[in-house]
Amino acid sequence: MKSILRGAVIAAAAAVVVFLFHGAVPGARQAGSLWAYEEEPVEMVVLMYHSIDSHENRSDRYTITPQALRRDLEYLQKEGYGTVVMADVIGYVMDGTPLPPKPVMLTFDDGFYNNYLNAFPLLQEFEMRAVVSIIGEESDRFSLVDENSEKYASLTWHQIQEMQNSGLVEFQNHSYGLHRMNGGRHGLAKKWGEGKTQYQRSIKADVGKLQDRFHEMFDIRPTTFTYPYGVVTRDGDEVLRELGFQATLDSRGGVFEVTHEESCLWRIPRNNRPAGTCAQEIIEKVMAARLR
Ligand SMILES: [Zn+2]
Repeated sequence: MKSILRGAVIAAAAAVVVFLFHGAVPGARQAGSLWAYEEEPVEMVVLMYHSIDSHENRSDRYTITPQALRRDLEYLQKEGYGTVVMADVIGYVMDGTPLPPKPVMLTFDDGFYNNYLNAFPLLQEFEMRAVVSIIGEESDRFSLVDENSEKYASLTWHQIQEMQNSGLVEFQNHSYGLHRMNGGRHGLAKKWGEGKTQYQRSIKADVGKLQDRFHEMFDIRPTTFTYPYGVVTRDGDEVLRELGFQATLDSRGGVFEVTHEESCLWRIPRNNRPAGTCAQEIIEKVMAARLR
């Protein structure tokens, strides 16, 4: 608990500093180097969820029940956490827009239909926000068949629109078709013997395709790329920057230290939330490891 309190105090102090600078210095962005030096980073735990399925026998490393998610949200509410999305984090880093005193980020990967069925109503009930990273080809496919399986279906574009319109859910890019276990490329991994040019062209075509889909559908371009399987490559990152991404979400664990340096937005650490634990336990463990 002590570590959580310390995090809260730091976050609150940081918010006050940002507030003061904003009050005192018009266009405080120019003072970036000064306040980056003066100010402690905001420490935030980013939680990573996947499937939210009401059949308890399907709970595993990447699947939890809606009841388990509810308990996480109850804890966060009770402790006064404020949920943020990537737009908030980017706003803080680039423009100094304040974050809530105890920020936390809830992320959901793979764009499961059960996020709409089971997580979205809870977000509405608790008035909490979340980041959902979808796989383009899956949403295209399920939009055509319109098949609502709690176990394996993906979000349709219609459901994505509804969630987005609520203002509670921000959608991000988890690749168009690189999220496959068999056949094709495994995330951003390079194929054996593949040259840099060919590799980058292929990544750009795939990830860019989902950016284009978002643009066609909603006139937006996601700001953040979520690495499928957590596979990260330097040549892949070059392409992501070319495509205009401002941030990437990794799946290695740890505390996200938010500063006013743009580099902190790259490979943001996240912490998987498997069945058999809870948000409290994860947050306390991650914060304690940070202070060790
Ligand atoms: Zn994934």
